[in-house]
Amino acid sequence: MLVVKKFGGSSVAEPERIKRVARRVVEEHQRGNQVVVVVSAMGDTTDDLITLMKKVTNNPPEREVDMLLSTGEQISIALLSMAIRDLGSDVVSLTGGQVGIETDEVHTKAKILKVSTERMKVELEQNRVVVVAGFQGINNNKDITTLGRGGSDTTAVALAAVLKADVCEIFTDVDGVYTTDPRVVPEASKLTNISYDEMLELASLGAQVLHPRSVELAKQYGIPLHVRTSFDHREGTIVEEAPDMENAPVVSGVAHDFNVAKIGLFDVPDKPGVAKTIFKALSAHNINVDMIIQSAMRNNMNDIGFTTTHDDLRKALLTIEAIQQEVGFKGYTHDEDVAKVSIVGAGMISHPGVAADMFEALADEEINLEMITTSEIKVSCVIKRSETERAVKALHKKFCLDDLEAARNYGQ
Ligand code: ADP
Ligand code: ASP
Ligand code: MG
Repeated sequence: MLVVKKFGGSSVAEPERIKRVARRVVEEHQRGNQVVVVVSAMGDTTDDLITLMKKVTNNPPEREVDMLLSTGEQISIALLSMAIRDLGSDVVSLTGGQVGIETDEVHTKAKILKVSTERMKVELEQNRVVVVAGFQGINNNKDITTLGRGGSDTTAVALAAVLKADVCEIFTDVDGVYTTDPRVVPEASKLTNISYDEMLELASLGAQVLHPRSVELAKQYGIPLHVRTSFDHREGTIVEEAPDMENAPVVSGVAHDFNVAKIGLFDVPDKPGVAKTIFKALSAHNINVDMIIQSAMRNNMNDIGFTTTHDDLRKALLTIEAIQQEVGFKGYTHDEDVAKVSIVGAGMISHPGVAADMFEALADEEINLEMITTSEIKVSCVIKRSETERAVKALHKKFCLDDLEAARNYGQ
């Protein structure tokens, strides 16, 4: 059997934890299985590197950001490999570049294009454990790229896909996927399984437990993911193709995201091509835009609002300023003091009125909705940042998520 195991930052935060991970890996290897391990940087290393960088400059070239951030994972693979060797298994550590994880050119949020299996297969055939640095790859120029925060999950799934692994396990500091972040709502319920589609929405809407791109790849290649704790041997949550969408709870999870910034453009001329010019300019700078709203026209003018991430805000404002004359809007503002709360559930498709129930729960808390978007299986609202915890708790309660049986019966 070939197993891919990914250990997140908290699982390797300290020397003792690294040794514990090593024991778990060696157990698997000595059972006669081939093992590929993906690790993240230790604890808060990536955040610490960013803090350090900000003390040096406010304007770092993105190529150098990747050069810096990729070092965290390199420490982990070396230390874990040493600990594994001590326990008697043969082992080799490999960087993304050494494995042959090829990405596009987009520094700080690169996409994996191709993964070579050659080196890993040679090592596995020699009965070595292969320990790979998560979160990083190389582009066409052989420059180091990173996959976006939380990207080690994606490395693990990409390796599981190309190696046709039997299992892909994601070890983290919670024992599975919950109905919402258990750090915010301690009554959250653990899910035994969840569909790729719902997990993809939750992850994209801020549920940090999996990197969205990892879920996308798992779905594309049909790889079930087992999300579980690295602290004991309890079973976690299986992310897989939904066997039965019809019987899914109306709402299966609540997510929140603080990495949101709102930009508003005022008095934008109402004529064809305006939205094209604005959003083409943003996409040319690889700025991710999420929600977009346009107000009703008055005096041949509109207001256009959209959201982006905090990380992209500065670049987005520079881009907007550069096209102001060409597009002819009068002014613009931005607001970082916002957050996004969302509900997700495959059962929404067959239950009208779920969005209204969400708005009711938030209105009861006197929370103002600044923007709203919906899709078949989710509803998201932008609210004031300070109201996030209250909003998440109210939504979790409204849809009975502390009791999965009651959640399944919601709206019946
Ligand atoms: P790792 O370092 O292992 O990659 P992360 O911090 O990226 O771990 O992700 C795990 C964290 O995700 C948990 O500690 C939890 O607070 C958070 N989280 C957010 N939403 C959820 C959810 N729906 N289910 C479980 N954990 C969640
Ligand atoms: N170390 C990186 C981060 O903190 C990647 C990861 O942990 O998945 O975002
Ligand atoms: Mg993570």
